[in-house]
Amino acid sequence: MTTFIIDHKDKVIHKSTFINDMCNHRSIISREDTNDSHIIEQLQSKKYTICKHCSSALGSNLL
Ligand SMILES: [Zn+2]
Repeated sequence: MTTFIIDHKDKVIHKSTFINDMCNHRSIISREDTNDSHIIEQLQSKKYTICKHCSSALGSNLL
């Protein structure tokens, strides 16, 4: 199951499987981890975006 790492300060959603140095995840100040895709969908409707650095690891548009 994919785990998501949510950056609430910058409103970015990372995927823990593919997170990498370009994500600057070590500097995330307000962080939440979840594996609930419903939460991710709700956040996307609140203008949260999927991080392009870790989502591009598998191509496109994966949730
Ligand atoms: Zn990322």
